[in-house]
Amino acid sequence: MHVLVTNDDGVAAPGLAALARALSELGRVTVMAPSKNWSASGHVKTMHKPLRVAEVVLADGTPALATSGAPSDCVALALLGVVTEPVDLVVSGINPNCNLGYDVTYSGTVTAAMEATIFGVPAVAVSTDHRAEIGFDAPARVAARVVERALAAGWPRGVLLNVNVPALPEAAIRGVRVTRQGLRPYRDALDARLDPRGVPYYWIGGDPPTGVHEPGTDFAALEDGCVSVTPLHLDLTAYAAHDGLEAALGGMPWPS
Ligand code: MN
Repeated sequence: MHVLVTNDDGVAAPGLAALARALSELGRVTVMAPSKNWSASGHVKTMHKPLRVAEVVLADGTPALATSGAPSDCVALALLGVVTEPVDLVVSGINPNCNLGYDVTYSGTVTAAMEATIFGVPAVAVSTDHRAEIGFDAPARVAARVVERALAAGWPRGVLLNVNVPALPEAAIRGVRVTRQGLRPYRDALDARLDPRGVPYYWIGGDPPTGVHEPGTDFAALEDGCVSVTPLHLDLTAYAAHDGLEAALGGMPWPS
């Protein structure tokens, strides 16, 4: 098996190297990641400027490719042929903050996995709420075990897995739960300031998001000390609203 490992925190991030080390137990690993931090960049396709790829070496000696593109660009470049050997699995992370609920729409970690899904390649995003005393090696080993088992069971078509690992010693983790996206109340606040010329500028500030502890959700699994595995797909259709809208609009006389 050939695994492509990427992330959104940049090629120097410690979570990337830990993930590459853990996944090397499952197969051969190619690391291709952005040269800078793209956290909260969403799903990007760079179309109006060239993309560069450079050979680099990670702090632990792992060879890697650093690109000038976004996380999703890295996956596209690799799967379009910059990486010549076919890729069987794409794993993105480890992000140092969990990606829960609507976070997945902002997350470069998750959107890298989404890009692989568009190419029809099984993909996983891995995140944890990083704590120095836990580090990234334990969450990486946990993620590798989950991925190995999910692959053996047969990968659901068009699905990526959003894996969030609690920042606990491996022995303290209470199990693996397959979950749905929970609710993540954002507490963003506008921070308006004046530049030295008196012109206003803005930061999107405020406090970090919280979460609602609803059974079955990603947030609740983590609060309960479990690994959360959320299957995601890219079909954002609101099926629950479809029939009601069809009744209201589908028979709309046209031209009126
Ligand atoms: Mn990140």
